[in-house]
Amino acid sequence: MRKPLRIHLDRTLCDGFGICAKHAPGYFSLDDWGYACLIGDGSVPEADRDDVMRALMDCPVHAIMELDERRPDDVPPPLNGDADPAEHLKTEANEAEWGFTR
Ligand code: SF4
Repeated sequence: MRKPLRIHLDRTLCDGFGICAKHAPGYFSLDDWGYACLIGDGSVPEADRDDVMRALMDCPVHAIMELDERRPDDVPPPLNGDADPAEHLKTEANEAEWGFTR
């Protein structure tokens, strides 16, 4: 079973293309200037998942994000509760491990 979908809209990124409101009008409305507003708290039931994911994928400026989505530069969670999160910090000393090249 898939985990429940939760989304976030970053209105500072929105450029007002209106694609999201076309794909998922129950979740996105457009203000007077055409910029998107999220309707509700971002929780998406399974029945609406495809429409909302299409809005997310088609947003030209990636203003819609899936919460819990991992980004390439995210620090991985510790393997157990005792692990020191500082072990995962990206520093010059371990840059070969995290892929930085000059
Ligand atoms: S598709 Fe993206 S840019 Fe267009 S209105 Fe929606 S959030 Fe804004």
